[in-house]
Amino acid sequence: MLQATTRLSHPEAIEVMHRFQQDHPEFITVDSATGPWRMVIPAGSFMVRSEEDHLSVHAEGVDAIGLSYLKLIFVDHIREYLEEDIEFVWSGDETDTKEPPFFRQITVVWSKRLTRSMQRVRFAVPDLELLQHTELHVRLLLPPKDRTPVWPWMTASGGMAWPQGDDALLARIYTLRSVDLVAGEVEIDFVLHACDAPSAGAWSMLCQPGDVAGMLGPSGHIPTASGRLLLIGDETALPAIARACEALPEDADCEILIEVNGPEDEMDLGWPVNWLHRNGAPAGTTSLLADAVRAREPSEDLYVWAGVEFGAFKDIRKHVRSVWNLPRKQHSVVAYWRSGSAGDVPEESHHKKKA
Ligand SMILES: Cc1cc2nc3c(=O)[nH]c(=O)nc-3n(C[C@H](O)[C@H](O)[C@H](O)COP(=O)(O)OP(=O)(O)OC[C@H]3O[C@@H](n4cnc5c(N)ncnc54)[C@H](O)[C@@H]3O)c2cc1C
Repeated sequence: MLQATTRLSHPEAIEVMHRFQQDHPEFITVDSATGPWRMVIPAGSFMVRSEEDHLSVHAEGVDAIGLSYLKLIFVDHIREYLEEDIEFVWSGDETDTKEPPFFRQITVVWSKRLTRSMQRVRFAVPDLELLQHTELHVRLLLPPKDRTPVWPWMTASGGMAWPQGDDALLARIYTLRSVDLVAGEVEIDFVLHACDAPSAGAWSMLCQPGDVAGMLGPSGHIPTASGRLLLIGDETALPAIARACEALPEDADCEILIEVNGPEDEMDLGWPVNWLHRNGAPAGTTSLLADAVRAREPSEDLYVWAGVEFGAFKDIRKHVRSVWNLPRKQHSVVAYWRSGSAGDVPEESHHKKKA
């Protein structure tokens, strides 16, 4: 285990730790009104104790990546709750590197067209085996054209800092479609979509062997279930659903609904798929997936996973929660993109605001 300690001196420190615990009871436990608070996740753990005039924080990571995730989680949450960029001084953490241990500069090996709407790019990733390579998605960082890339770095506080202005990066989330540990290479499938501004989709078609990009992660689990599984997605979730299919046991009770434009956009996933065709309607404008969900019935052992456009996300999540009454542990419905909006779809904050 790697360890680091810091302290939090702030008049609202105890109140903030209670809010942190109440928002994440599945990970954080607390013994009394003054702590201690303990967080345990696969990457490691932290313990926060109340001292005379401050809180002492002791973080342990299973490895360098785990420890930096723990520090990042703690620092980001405390800053969000306090609505202040307060500084932390960590000690005991000899690996005082500026480069995040979960960052890699990756190099294009080749790029090729898979279907009418999908481009596959293979990247060489140094020390791939040291990353959490069984996890699903990464944040891909594309540097500005014709400039030496400046990558994000860890601050002394344990947070992340990003290049700005002319060095600003195009950061987009993508799924690792495949991971080849022997070759030290990964593949990413990019949906091609019309767009005037620079986009990751267009980059995937234009990139050349030897071009570099940045990669943060991976994180996020491959969808799976011990009972009945319903996988739902549009083209952007095809890579995630394909990886889920590869991991399913042969006798799994799994139904797959995927919306694409037409038969030319379908891919063999080695598993039966209900393909829903838009037939020329723009992506993100149909109710095909939500209608298909509404036409199905839930069951006690059902787990629903969906990666879709924002409009479909709202409809499907509402149906799953309000009509089917599926508890949160039985569904993961995520907006993968939002029509008319570039970049990440901002997550709805699950954190309580200051009273
Ligand atoms: C966890 C996760 C995993 C993902 N995995 C993948 C993946 O493996 N492959 C993949 O292709 N995408 C994936 N996505 C979706 C991808 O991040 C978004 O589509 C992203 O917006 C693409 O970036 P861009 O730079 O090409 O376009 P942006 O600059 O973000 O968007 C420019 C314009 O294009 C529109 N647009 C964006 N995506 C699409 C689309 N698919 N179809 C039509 N219009 C679009 C936007 O609404 C905007 O108007 C994933 C998203 C998440 C959250």
